[in-house]
Amino acid sequence: MLLTVPLLLLLVSPSLGAPLSGSIARPRNKLLLISFDGFRWDYDRDVDTPNLDGMALDGIKATYVTPPFLTITSPAHFTLLTGRYIENHGVIHNMWFNITTQEKKQYYMTQFVDEYWDNGSLPIWITAQRQGLKAGSLHFPGTAATYQGQRVQVREVEPRFYDYSNETEWRMSIDTVLGSWFSEQDLDFVSLYFGEPDTTGHKYGPESAERREMVKQVDRTVGYIRTAAQKHGLTDRLNIIITADHGMTTVLRNGPVKEIILSQIPGFSFRDIKFQLADYGPTAMMLPKEGMLDKVYSALKGGHPNLHVYKKEDMPGRLHYSNNPRILPLILIADLGYVINGLFPVQYSKGEHGFDNQAMDMKTFFRAAGPDFHKNLVVGPFETVSVYPLMCHLLGITPETNDGSLEDTRHMLITSEDTDISEVAPSRGPRKKLLLISLYGFRWDYDRDADTPNLDVMALCQVKAIFVNIASPAHITLLPVFKKDAN
Ligand SMILES: [Zn+2]
Repeated sequence: MLLTVPLLLLLVSPSLGAPLSGSIARPRNKLLLISFDGFRWDYDRDVDTPNLDGMALDGIKATYVTPPFLTITSPAHFTLLTGRYIENHGVIHNMWFNITTQEKKQYYMTQFVDEYWDNGSLPIWITAQRQGLKAGSLHFPGTAATYQGQRVQVREVEPRFYDYSNETEWRMSIDTVLGSWFSEQDLDFVSLYFGEPDTTGHKYGPESAERREMVKQVDRTVGYIRTAAQKHGLTDRLNIIITADHGMTTVLRNGPVKEIILSQIPGFSFRDIKFQLADYGPTAMMLPKEGMLDKVYSALKGGHPNLHVYKKEDMPGRLHYSNNPRILPLILIADLGYVINGLFPVQYSKGEHGFDNQAMDMKTFFRAAGPDFHKNLVVGPFETVSVYPLMCHLLGITPETNDGSLEDTRHMLITSEDTDISEVAPSRGPRKKLLLISLYGFRWDYDRDADTPNLDVMALCQVKAIFVNIASPAHITLLPVFKKDAN
């Protein structure tokens, strides 16, 4: 009878499940929040990423994180900055629009429309500044806007036509943030944005060689950031969080795929529509003309097997994309891989995002390292609304009302209690019991393609190693011993 190789180590101790202390037993450290736009949670699987791997060893890696719906850039970034779902922070789209004048502004120009961003939820820069901290932001969506009369004090907004993929520019940005802002100007918090691998993912698709090359550039950049932190003497007092706004999926075309083209749906006419946002990836929103809502809804619903149509009030609650006056009365969502075209197909991207945030391809990544984080700890998934309360906690500021929870991330943090335990454990307290469980031939990554809620929960509560090496002969000789005992 074959039995097992030691693999899982379960420490049953009196401290398991004990409440963690909320405070960090050291002076406040600085915090750098970095977003690499459109970095899907699994982009490090098919590319060598020594610097991202090194950061996971030195800190925290989440299996993945779930962005808010719509899974698009400005709304999802504003969720990182506010901890609010999109219906609650009100930045409901990348585009600003006016239903009366029909005016629309694309992503870049929307950055300068104050009233679009400033509608009740304060980004963390303003809250930090109001509580006496110094904040900065470089290229992060929302940087240019004024909130209740205040802007982020130190900022850099990219020019109208900007190459978001230029690695030399990236390094200049990093030198600005770490050298000038953190070191010389002594800022406490900075948000830093890079526009890749999103653009490459759109253009060539997430499974392309070009995307893999861009992930290598991201990885080199992570190495550059950590070296720069060291060079400026910041390593011991700077926490770094790296995440993104959404993932990316391959757009399905040709062959058996029937594209969604609204004008071809029987009974639907754009003449019944007062204002619409279509031709923008996998979602669309519509304001039908007076009295036309039910007619338009009935025509579109069932109009294409991969198109889902909701009246605003019937949107699934888990999407948190309903309760805001800016959201239009009809919302259209395509299945993964499909995009919604209006009059005729005008979207040619090979990769797209904006889909239901339950889809694994929309999930993104999360890494963190620094003096307040545990080392070499892999944690289970959480929603990106919870990055905000984590950041407020790290900065020691009181958060605004938000939809996240510090309980989602608290286990990542070194607390004063951890320090106490490591200092006194050998000489104090009852002896801990130890249960060693091993599973025969359980490869390190067997939990990647199967739902393993119980293993995930165990990782959340305590420790998960990325993998372990079986190198020593002593280990191998254990095998027959275990077999014999079992028989
Ligand atoms: Zn994006």
